[in-house]
Amino acid sequence: MSTNETSAHDKFSSFLRCIEEGCEAQYSIDQRLYSCPECGGLLDVAYDFESSVSADELKALFKSRKTSDLDIDRSGVWRFRELLPFVADTSQAITLAEGNTPIYAAPRSADYAGLASLRFKHQGMNPTGSFKDDGMATGVTQARVLRATAVACASTGNTSASMAAYAARARMRAFVFVPAGQVAFGKLAQALEYGASVIEIEGSFDDAMRIVRELAEETDLYLLNSINPFRLEGQKTIVIEMMEQLGWRAPDWIVVPGGNLGNSSAFGKALHEMARLNLLDLRPRLAIIQASGAAPFYELFVSTDRTALKPYASAATLATAIRIGNPISWKKALRAIDWTRGIVERVTEQEIADAKAVIGSDGIGCEPASAATLAGIRRLVAAGEIRSDDTVVAVLTGNLLKDPDYTIGYHTGSLTLDEGGTRTVIEASFANRPLRVAASKDAIKRLLNL
Ligand SMILES: *Cc1c(COP(=O)(O)O)cnc(C)c1O
Ligand SMILES: [Zn+2]
Repeated sequence: MSTNETSAHDKFSSFLRCIEEGCEAQYSIDQRLYSCPECGGLLDVAYDFESSVSADELKALFKSRKTSDLDIDRSGVWRFRELLPFVADTSQAITLAEGNTPIYAAPRSADYAGLASLRFKHQGMNPTGSFKDDGMATGVTQARVLRATAVACASTGNTSASMAAYAARARMRAFVFVPAGQVAFGKLAQALEYGASVIEIEGSFDDAMRIVRELAEETDLYLLNSINPFRLEGQKTIVIEMMEQLGWRAPDWIVVPGGNLGNSSAFGKALHEMARLNLLDLRPRLAIIQASGAAPFYELFVSTDRTALKPYASAATLATAIRIGNPISWKKALRAIDWTRGIVERVTEQEIADAKAVIGSDGIGCEPASAATLAGIRRLVAAGEIRSDDTVVAVLTGNLLKDPDYTIGYHTGSLTLDEGGTRTVIEASFANRPLRVAASKDAIKRLLNL
Protein backbone atom coordinates (compact mmCIF):
# COMPACT_ATOMS: atom_id res chain seq x y z
CA MET A 1 0.00 0.00 0.00
CA SER A 2 1.31 3.35 -0.83
CA THR A 3 0.05 6.76 0.10
CA ASN A 4 -0.48 10.08 -1.43
CA GLU A 5 2.84 11.78 -0.69
CA THR A 6 2.05 14.81 -2.78
CA SER A 7 -0.46 15.89 -0.19
CA ALA A 8 2.20 16.85 2.35
CA HIS A 9 4.40 19.88 2.12
CA ASP A 10 4.28 20.79 -1.56
CA LYS A 11 0.71 22.00 -1.19
CA PHE A 12 1.25 23.85 2.06
CA SER A 13 4.12 26.16 2.82
CA SER A 14 5.54 26.01 6.34
CA PHE A 15 7.30 28.70 8.32
CA LEU A 16 7.98 29.82 11.86
CA ARG A 17 5.88 32.68 13.21
CA CYS A 18 6.07 34.64 16.45
CA ILE A 19 2.82 34.43 18.41
CA GLU A 20 3.11 37.94 19.91
CA GLU A 21 0.45 40.31 18.63
CA GLY A 22 2.12 43.23 16.95
CA CYS A 23 5.24 41.21 16.15
CA GLU A 24 4.20 38.05 14.31
CA ALA A 25 7.62 37.99 12.68
CA GLN A 26 8.12 35.10 10.27
CA TYR A 27 11.20 32.96 9.88
CA SER A 28 12.23 30.15 7.62
CA ILE A 29 11.35 26.66 8.78
CA ASP A 30 15.05 25.75 8.47
CA GLN A 31 16.20 28.25 11.05
CA ARG A 32 17.25 26.84 14.36
CA LEU A 33 15.20 29.11 16.62
CA TYR A 34 13.57 28.47 19.98
CA SER A 35 12.04 31.91 20.44
CA CYS A 36 11.55 35.07 18.36
CA PRO A 37 14.85 36.93 17.78
CA GLU A 38 12.85 40.19 17.47
CA CYS A 39 10.85 40.13 20.69
CA GLY A 40 11.64 36.91 22.54
CA GLY A 41 8.09 35.58 22.01
CA LEU A 42 7.12 31.95 21.52
CA LEU A 43 7.15 30.57 17.99
CA ASP A 44 4.51 28.59 16.12
CA VAL A 45 5.12 26.26 13.26
CA ALA A 46 2.65 27.88 10.86
CA TYR A 47 1.20 26.73 7.55
CA ASP A 48 -0.70 28.11 4.62
CA PHE A 49 -3.47 25.55 4.61
CA GLU A 50 -4.78 26.55 1.20
CA SER A 51 -5.82 23.02 0.54
CA SER A 52 -7.24 21.39 -2.51
CA VAL A 53 -7.74 18.25 -0.46
CA SER A 54 -11.23 18.03 0.99
CA ALA A 55 -11.92 17.00 4.57
CA ASP A 56 -13.45 13.75 3.34
CA GLU A 57 -10.35 12.97 1.29
CA LEU A 58 -8.16 13.61 4.31
CA LYS A 59 -10.27 11.34 6.51
CA ALA A 60 -10.13 8.55 3.92
CA LEU A 61 -6.37 8.99 3.56
CA PHE A 62 -5.79 8.80 7.33
CA LYS A 63 -7.90 5.68 7.55
CA SER A 64 -6.25 3.92 4.63
CA ARG A 65 -2.83 4.32 6.18
CA LYS A 66 -3.74 2.11 9.13
CA THR A 67 -3.43 -0.90 6.87
CA SER A 68 -0.33 0.32 5.07
CA ASP A 69 2.95 -1.58 5.36
CA LEU A 70 4.97 1.58 5.85
CA ASP A 71 6.12 2.47 9.37
CA ILE A 72 5.42 6.13 8.75
CA ASP A 73 1.81 5.35 7.80
CA ARG A 74 1.23 3.23 10.87
CA SER A 75 2.58 5.86 13.23
CA GLY A 76 -0.26 7.59 15.05
CA VAL A 77 1.62 10.84 14.48
CA TRP A 78 2.86 10.64 10.90
CA ARG A 79 -0.40 9.13 9.70
CA PHE A 80 -1.76 12.66 10.03
CA ARG A 81 1.16 14.37 8.30
CA GLU A 82 -1.01 16.63 6.15
CA LEU A 83 -1.61 18.60 9.33
CA LEU A 84 2.10 18.77 10.21
CA PRO A 85 3.58 19.27 6.78
CA PHE A 86 6.89 20.79 7.85
CA VAL A 87 8.92 17.78 6.74
CA ALA A 88 9.64 17.96 3.01
CA ASP A 89 11.20 14.52 2.82
CA THR A 90 9.12 12.08 4.84
CA SER A 91 11.85 9.43 4.64
CA GLN A 92 13.47 11.54 7.36
CA ALA A 93 10.62 10.92 9.80
CA ILE A 94 11.55 9.15 13.03
CA THR A 95 8.98 6.82 14.54
CA LEU A 96 8.58 4.23 17.27
CA ALA A 97 4.96 3.52 16.27
CA GLU A 98 3.78 6.21 18.70
CA GLY A 99 0.20 7.32 19.05
CA ASN A 100 -2.52 4.84 18.06
CA THR A 101 -3.56 4.99 21.69
CA PRO A 102 -6.88 3.59 22.87
CA ILE A 103 -10.01 5.40 24.00
CA TYR A 104 -11.69 3.64 26.92
CA ALA A 105 -15.18 4.04 28.29
CA ALA A 106 -14.92 4.46 32.06
CA PRO A 107 -18.31 3.96 33.75
CA ARG A 108 -17.11 4.07 37.37
CA SER A 109 -15.13 7.21 36.72
CA ALA A 110 -18.16 8.73 34.98
CA ASP A 111 -20.30 7.92 38.00
CA TYR A 112 -17.75 9.43 40.34
CA ALA A 113 -17.69 12.65 38.33
CA GLY A 114 -21.48 12.83 37.98
CA LEU A 115 -21.47 12.22 34.23
CA ALA A 116 -23.66 9.89 32.22
CA SER A 117 -20.56 8.73 30.39
CA LEU A 118 -16.87 9.52 30.23
CA ARG A 119 -14.04 8.35 28.01
CA PHE A 120 -10.30 8.38 28.52
CA LYS A 121 -7.80 8.67 25.71
CA HIS A 122 -4.79 6.91 27.16
CA GLN A 123 -1.52 8.47 26.08
CA GLY A 124 0.26 6.34 28.65
CA MET A 125 0.01 3.52 26.10
CA ASN A 126 2.75 5.13 24.02
CA PRO A 127 6.15 3.45 23.46
CA THR A 128 7.83 5.09 26.47
CA GLY A 129 4.61 5.46 28.44
CA SER A 130 3.66 9.10 28.00
CA PHE A 131 2.35 11.57 25.42
CA LYS A 132 5.84 13.02 25.17
CA ASP A 133 6.43 10.41 22.45
CA ASP A 134 4.00 12.10 20.07
CA GLY A 135 6.03 15.28 20.37
CA MET A 136 9.45 13.67 20.29
CA ALA A 137 8.63 11.90 17.02
CA THR A 138 8.33 15.31 15.37
CA GLY A 139 10.93 17.12 17.51
CA VAL A 140 13.68 14.59 16.87
CA THR A 141 12.71 14.46 13.21
CA GLN A 142 13.22 18.21 12.94
CA ALA A 143 16.58 17.79 14.72
CA ARG A 144 17.55 15.36 11.98
CA VAL A 145 16.27 17.64 9.20
CA LEU A 146 18.44 20.42 10.66
CA ARG A 147 21.38 17.99 10.71
CA ALA A 148 21.83 18.23 14.45
CA THR A 149 24.01 15.44 15.77
CA ALA A 150 22.94 15.77 19.38
CA VAL A 151 19.75 16.69 21.24
CA ALA A 152 19.34 17.95 24.77
CA CYS A 153 16.70 18.72 27.36
CA ALA A 154 16.40 19.61 31.00
CA SER A 155 13.98 17.25 32.68
CA THR A 156 13.47 14.99 35.61
CA GLY A 157 10.81 12.92 33.96
CA ASN A 158 9.01 11.80 30.90
CA THR A 159 10.61 14.28 28.52
CA SER A 160 14.04 12.78 29.10
CA ALA A 161 12.78 9.21 28.84
CA SER A 162 11.09 9.94 25.54
CA MET A 163 13.86 12.08 24.05
CA ALA A 164 16.41 9.39 24.89
CA ALA A 165 14.40 6.74 23.03
CA TYR A 166 13.79 8.83 19.91
CA ALA A 167 17.38 10.06 19.78
CA ALA A 168 18.50 6.45 19.93
CA ARG A 169 16.24 5.64 16.95
CA ALA A 170 17.74 8.58 15.06
CA ARG A 171 21.26 7.56 16.07
CA MET A 172 21.84 10.90 17.68
CA ARG A 173 23.55 11.63 20.92
CA ALA A 174 21.21 12.66 23.70
CA PHE A 175 22.06 14.79 26.71
CA VAL A 176 19.66 14.88 29.60
CA PHE A 177 20.31 17.54 32.24
CA VAL A 178 18.82 16.75 35.60
CA PRO A 179 19.08 18.23 39.07
CA ALA A 180 21.20 15.75 41.02
CA GLY A 181 19.24 13.39 43.24
CA GLN A 182 15.79 14.65 42.23
CA VAL A 183 14.97 12.18 39.50
CA ALA A 184 12.22 9.57 39.74
CA PHE A 185 13.84 6.18 39.30
CA GLY A 186 11.39 4.78 36.76
CA LYS A 187 12.00 7.66 34.39
CA LEU A 188 15.77 7.88 35.01
CA ALA A 189 16.01 4.17 34.28
CA GLN A 190 14.50 4.73 30.83
CA ALA A 191 16.92 7.53 29.94
CA LEU A 192 19.87 5.35 30.96
CA GLU A 193 18.60 2.30 29.13
CA TYR A 194 18.11 4.22 25.88
CA GLY A 195 21.69 5.42 26.06
CA ALA A 196 21.33 9.10 26.84
CA SER A 197 24.16 10.85 28.64
CA VAL A 198 22.61 11.81 31.95
CA ILE A 199 24.27 14.87 33.44
CA GLU A 200 23.41 15.45 37.06
CA ILE A 201 23.74 19.15 37.80
CA GLU A 202 24.54 20.12 41.35
CA GLY A 203 21.72 22.61 41.50
CA SER A 204 17.98 22.98 40.88
CA PHE A 205 15.87 22.13 37.84
CA ASP A 206 15.89 25.82 36.96
CA ASP A 207 19.71 25.80 36.95
CA ALA A 208 19.65 22.79 34.63
CA MET A 209 17.12 24.50 32.33
CA ARG A 210 19.10 27.75 32.15
CA ILE A 211 22.38 25.96 31.42
CA VAL A 212 20.95 23.74 28.70
CA ARG A 213 19.34 26.74 26.99
CA GLU A 214 22.66 28.59 26.99
CA LEU A 215 24.46 25.51 25.70
CA ALA A 216 21.94 25.20 22.88
CA GLU A 217 22.72 28.77 21.79
CA GLU A 218 26.49 28.23 21.80
CA THR A 219 26.89 24.65 20.58
CA ASP A 220 25.40 22.14 18.14
CA LEU A 221 23.08 20.76 20.83
CA TYR A 222 19.46 20.91 19.60
CA LEU A 223 17.08 21.85 22.40
CA LEU A 224 14.02 19.64 22.84
CA ASN A 225 12.26 21.16 25.80
CA SER A 226 8.66 22.08 25.03
CA ILE A 227 9.62 25.65 24.06
CA ASN A 228 10.59 23.87 20.82
CA PRO A 229 7.49 24.34 18.62
CA PHE A 230 8.12 21.17 16.60
CA ARG A 231 7.27 19.05 19.61
CA LEU A 232 3.81 20.57 19.80
CA GLU A 233 3.19 19.61 16.17
CA GLY A 234 3.35 15.93 17.08
CA GLN A 235 1.18 16.44 20.12
CA LYS A 236 -1.56 17.93 17.93
CA THR A 237 -2.21 14.43 16.61
CA ILE A 238 -3.56 13.35 20.01
CA VAL A 239 -6.67 15.40 19.24
CA ILE A 240 -6.79 14.49 15.56
CA GLU A 241 -6.64 10.80 16.38
CA MET A 242 -9.25 11.27 19.11
CA MET A 243 -11.62 12.82 16.58
CA GLU A 244 -11.04 9.97 14.18
CA GLN A 245 -11.78 7.44 16.92
CA LEU A 246 -15.02 9.29 17.70
CA GLY A 247 -16.11 9.00 14.08
CA TRP A 248 -15.30 12.69 13.57
CA ARG A 249 -18.04 13.73 15.98
CA ALA A 250 -16.51 16.21 18.34
CA PRO A 251 -17.03 15.81 22.09
CA ASP A 252 -18.35 18.76 24.08
CA TRP A 253 -15.22 18.78 26.24
CA ILE A 254 -11.60 17.72 26.01
CA VAL A 255 -9.93 17.66 29.41
CA VAL A 256 -6.16 17.72 29.96
CA PRO A 257 -3.79 18.26 32.90
CA GLY A 258 -1.66 21.41 32.67
CA GLY A 259 1.99 21.65 33.75
CA ASN A 260 4.26 23.48 31.35
CA LEU A 261 1.12 23.81 29.18
CA GLY A 262 2.70 22.45 26.02
CA ASN A 263 0.02 19.83 25.58
CA SER A 264 -2.84 22.27 26.18
CA SER A 265 -1.24 24.58 23.60
CA ALA A 266 -0.91 21.76 21.09
CA PHE A 267 -4.57 20.77 21.56
CA GLY A 268 -5.69 24.34 20.97
CA LYS A 269 -3.61 24.59 17.82
CA ALA A 270 -4.94 21.25 16.58
CA LEU A 271 -8.56 22.34 17.04
CA HIS A 272 -7.88 25.69 15.39
CA GLU A 273 -6.29 24.08 12.36
CA MET A 274 -8.85 21.29 12.12
CA ALA A 275 -11.58 23.92 11.99
CA ARG A 276 -9.77 25.61 9.10
CA LEU A 277 -9.63 22.28 7.27
CA ASN A 278 -13.31 21.49 7.96
CA LEU A 279 -12.40 18.50 10.11
CA LEU A 280 -14.57 19.64 13.02
CA ASP A 281 -18.36 19.52 13.16
CA LEU A 282 -18.45 21.57 16.35
CA ARG A 283 -15.78 23.15 18.52
CA PRO A 284 -15.01 21.14 21.64
CA ARG A 285 -14.23 23.19 24.70
CA LEU A 286 -10.90 22.66 26.39
CA ALA A 287 -10.68 22.21 30.17
CA ILE A 288 -7.17 22.47 31.62
CA ILE A 289 -6.67 21.10 35.13
CA GLN A 290 -3.80 22.10 37.42
CA ALA A 291 -2.73 20.86 40.84
CA SER A 292 -3.50 23.52 43.43
CA GLY A 293 0.14 23.55 44.60
CA ALA A 294 1.25 24.43 41.05
CA ALA A 295 -1.61 26.46 39.63
CA PRO A 296 -0.26 29.75 38.22
CA PHE A 297 -2.28 29.33 35.04
CA TYR A 298 -5.49 28.81 36.99
CA GLU A 299 -4.77 32.03 38.88
CA LEU A 300 -4.17 33.85 35.62
CA PHE A 301 -7.46 32.50 34.25
CA VAL A 302 -9.54 33.73 37.18
CA SER A 303 -7.80 37.09 37.46
CA THR A 304 -9.06 40.19 35.70
CA ASP A 305 -5.64 40.95 34.24
CA ARG A 306 -4.48 38.17 31.96
CA THR A 307 -1.42 39.97 30.59
CA ALA A 308 1.17 38.50 32.94
CA LEU A 309 1.40 35.12 34.63
CA LYS A 310 2.70 35.17 38.19
CA PRO A 311 5.05 32.23 38.60
CA TYR A 312 5.16 30.16 41.78
CA ALA A 313 8.56 30.40 43.47
CA SER A 314 8.17 26.82 44.57
CA ALA A 315 5.58 24.46 43.15
CA ALA A 316 4.30 21.63 45.32
CA THR A 317 2.45 18.54 44.18
CA LEU A 318 3.04 14.80 44.26
CA ALA A 319 1.93 14.81 40.61
CA THR A 320 5.52 15.57 39.59
CA ALA A 321 4.77 15.78 35.86
CA ILE A 322 2.73 18.93 36.50
CA ARG A 323 4.92 20.33 39.27
CA ILE A 324 5.79 23.47 37.35
CA GLY A 325 5.70 26.96 38.81
CA ASN A 326 6.57 28.93 35.68
CA PRO A 327 4.94 27.29 32.65
CA ILE A 328 6.77 28.22 29.48
CA SER A 329 3.79 27.90 27.10
CA TRP A 330 1.22 29.89 29.06
CA LYS A 331 0.58 32.40 26.27
CA LYS A 332 -0.13 29.64 23.79
CA ALA A 333 -2.39 27.93 26.33
CA LEU A 334 -4.28 31.17 26.92
CA ARG A 335 -4.80 31.41 23.18
CA ALA A 336 -6.13 27.83 23.23
CA ILE A 337 -8.58 28.83 25.97
CA ASP A 338 -9.73 31.79 23.86
CA TRP A 339 -10.10 29.71 20.72
CA THR A 340 -12.15 27.02 22.44
CA ARG A 341 -14.13 28.98 25.05
CA GLY A 342 -12.04 26.94 27.43
CA ILE A 343 -11.83 26.82 31.16
CA VAL A 344 -9.14 26.22 33.80
CA GLU A 345 -9.69 24.42 37.10
CA ARG A 346 -7.46 23.39 39.97
CA VAL A 347 -7.68 20.38 42.27
CA THR A 348 -6.16 19.34 45.59
CA GLU A 349 -3.69 16.55 46.26
CA GLN A 350 -6.44 14.54 47.93
CA GLU A 351 -8.74 14.93 44.94
CA ILE A 352 -5.99 13.82 42.55
CA ALA A 353 -5.14 10.79 44.66
CA ASP A 354 -8.75 9.66 45.00
CA ALA A 355 -9.47 10.23 41.33
CA LYS A 356 -6.49 8.08 40.40
CA ALA A 357 -7.82 5.18 42.46
CA VAL A 358 -11.26 5.58 40.88
CA ILE A 359 -9.74 5.47 37.39
CA GLY A 360 -7.93 2.33 38.54
CA SER A 361 -11.27 0.80 39.53
CA ASP A 362 -12.24 0.98 35.85
CA GLY A 363 -9.20 -1.18 35.08
CA ILE A 364 -7.25 1.79 33.76
CA GLY A 365 -3.92 2.81 35.28
CA CYS A 366 -2.35 6.24 35.01
CA GLU A 367 0.12 8.67 36.52
CA PRO A 368 -1.00 11.05 39.26
CA ALA A 369 -0.84 14.03 36.88
CA SER A 370 -3.26 12.27 34.53
CA ALA A 371 -5.79 11.75 37.31
CA ALA A 372 -6.08 15.50 37.80
CA THR A 373 -8.43 15.33 34.81
CA LEU A 374 -11.09 13.26 36.58
CA ALA A 375 -10.77 15.33 39.73
CA GLY A 376 -11.23 18.48 37.66
CA ILE A 377 -14.22 17.10 35.75
CA ARG A 378 -15.90 16.24 39.04
CA ARG A 379 -15.48 19.81 40.22
CA LEU A 380 -16.68 21.26 36.95
CA VAL A 381 -19.78 19.05 36.93
CA ALA A 382 -20.56 20.04 40.52
CA ALA A 383 -20.16 23.70 39.54
CA GLY A 384 -22.53 23.27 36.60
CA GLU A 385 -19.86 24.14 34.03
CA ILE A 386 -19.95 20.65 32.53
CA ARG A 387 -23.45 19.19 32.20
CA SER A 388 -24.02 15.61 33.24
CA ASP A 389 -25.02 14.57 29.72
CA ASP A 390 -22.15 16.36 27.97
CA THR A 391 -19.75 14.19 26.01
CA VAL A 392 -16.35 14.34 27.66
CA VAL A 393 -12.98 12.88 26.69
CA ALA A 394 -10.17 13.20 29.21
CA VAL A 395 -6.57 12.64 28.21
CA LEU A 396 -4.57 10.36 30.48
CA THR A 397 -1.03 11.58 29.93
CA GLY A 398 1.15 8.89 31.47
CA ASN A 399 1.36 5.23 32.42
CA LEU A 400 0.68 3.90 35.92
CA LEU A 401 4.05 2.14 36.04
CA LYS A 402 6.00 5.39 35.80
CA ASP A 403 5.35 6.15 39.44
CA PRO A 404 4.60 3.00 41.46
CA ASP A 405 5.79 4.56 44.73
CA TYR A 406 2.85 6.95 44.65
CA THR A 407 0.32 4.21 44.06
CA ILE A 408 1.70 1.91 46.76
CA GLY A 409 1.87 4.88 49.13
CA TYR A 410 -1.80 5.68 48.53
CA HIS A 411 -3.10 2.17 48.98
CA THR A 412 -1.06 1.61 52.14
CA GLY A 413 -2.04 4.93 53.64
CA SER A 414 1.50 6.33 53.70
CA LEU A 415 1.29 9.01 51.04
CA THR A 416 2.36 12.46 52.27
CA LEU A 417 3.36 15.76 50.72
CA ASP A 418 6.04 17.70 52.59
CA GLU A 419 6.29 21.31 51.62
CA GLY A 420 7.60 24.40 53.37
CA GLY A 421 7.76 22.66 56.73
CA THR A 422 4.20 21.36 56.60
CA ARG A 423 3.12 17.82 55.94
CA THR A 424 -0.10 16.97 54.16
CA VAL A 425 -1.26 13.43 54.75
CA ILE A 426 -3.25 11.98 51.88
CA GLU A 427 -6.18 9.95 53.14
CA ALA A 428 -6.53 6.59 51.53
CA SER A 429 -10.25 6.95 50.88
CA PHE A 430 -10.28 4.24 48.21
CA ALA A 431 -7.43 2.22 49.66
CA ASN A 432 -6.93 -1.38 48.60
CA ARG A 433 -4.48 -2.56 51.23
CA PRO A 434 -2.50 -5.76 50.81
CA LEU A 435 -3.43 -8.33 53.43
CA ARG A 436 -0.69 -10.06 55.38
CA VAL A 437 -1.26 -13.51 56.76
CA ALA A 438 0.62 -16.54 58.05
CA ALA A 439 1.61 -19.12 55.43
CA SER A 440 -1.33 -21.36 56.33
CA LYS A 441 -4.37 -22.35 54.32
CA ASP A 442 -6.61 -22.22 57.40
CA ALA A 443 -5.47 -18.75 58.30
CA ILE A 444 -6.18 -17.61 54.75
CA LYS A 445 -9.65 -19.17 54.82
CA ARG A 446 -10.46 -17.39 58.06
CA LEU A 447 -9.07 -14.09 56.75
CA LEU A 448 -11.01 -14.24 53.49
CA ASN A 449 -14.16 -15.90 54.90
CA LEU A 450 -13.83 -18.70 52.37
C1 LIG B 1 4.61 16.31 30.67
C2 LIG B 1 3.46 15.70 31.36
C3 LIG B 1 2.34 16.47 31.77
C4 LIG B 1 2.27 17.95 31.60
O1 LIG B 1 2.14 18.35 30.28
P1 LIG B 1 2.45 19.86 29.85
O2 LIG B 1 2.51 19.83 28.39
O3 LIG B 1 3.78 20.21 30.49
O4 LIG B 1 1.36 20.70 30.42
C5 LIG B 1 1.28 15.83 32.37
N1 LIG B 1 1.31 14.50 32.59
C6 LIG B 1 2.36 13.73 32.22
C7 LIG B 1 2.33 12.27 32.52
C8 LIG B 1 3.46 14.31 31.60
O5 LIG B 1 4.50 13.54 31.25
ZN1 LIG C 1 8.30 38.34 18.00
